[in-house]
Amino acid sequence: MIRYDNIEVSFDDFVAIPKLDLEIQEGEFFTLLGPSGCGKTTALRTLAGFISPSAGDVFVDGKRVTHLSSDKRSIGMVFQNYALFPSMNVWENIAFGLKVRKDSKSDTARLVAEIAGQMELSDEQLHKNVAELSGGQQQRVAIARALVLKPKILLLDEPLSNLDAKLRVQLRGQLKDLQSQFGITTVYVTHDQDEALTMSDRIAVFNKGVVEHVGPPAEIYERS
Ligand code: ADP
Ligand code: ADP
Repeated sequence: MIRYDNIEVSFDDFVAIPKLDLEIQEGEFFTLLGPSGCGKTTALRTLAGFISPSAGDVFVDGKRVTHLSSDKRSIGMVFQNYALFPSMNVWENIAFGLKVRKDSKSDTARLVAEIAGQMELSDEQLHKNVAELSGGQQQRVAIARALVLKPKILLLDEPLSNLDAKLRVQLRGQLKDLQSQFGITTVYVTHDQDEALTMSDRIAVFNKGVVEHVGPPAEIYERS
């Protein structure tokens, strides 16, 4: 479903990713694991269409992502720092993409209510300003904002890194449950081996812009 076909990504004369070949299957929870600065975010942003590779291409369902307009990409993205709109309440944050897409008011209200239920966000929380929420709640809102558009692919860039250890473990389980419930193809970026091993169907181990190994958690665990 997702195919990195021999891509290279450079920033000016710095080569962040010299060569990447990777295939991710439909419905998979796929993790890019590696230390900070090894090119994971760059690989993710290239899939999102934010960065164009300097060579090669990334394909989703056989189509080049750089050739698709953003509304055709059907990709939702969640960031480490949540990136919510601070001047909007929770409901408005979640509804934002639906409004951009010009969904009707009744569809918008229905879809927001549906995802809020699935993400266990209460009516009271929906009316709060995002700044009044804890980090874990904010990240739940960010995930809801991405999922409400029912994307085919969900990209998660270190979504749990800013949370405390207890919450991190709790949200790991919730994220994994959501992913299997929605059957959504998920590409997850982390430097946390434990996170990768507990959540993923398959893991790509990155080092200095290069994938050293791809395989299921048990295989990666044996090698580490
Ligand atoms: P990771 O997500 O694994 O921490 P990144 O993909 O963010 O790594 O970064 C990989 C390398 O590319 C790093 O050396 C980083 O400094 C560099 N890099 C990332 N984005 C840019 C950019 N926009 N301009 C220049 N260099 C960049
Ligand atoms: P506008 O027409 O100005 O774009 P809306 O009528 O969509 O705004 O929403 C106005 C306010 O009402 C928003 O701040 C939002 O929080 C709230 N709101 C609208 N619909 C709902 C709903 N179904 N559930 C909870 N809050 C809602």
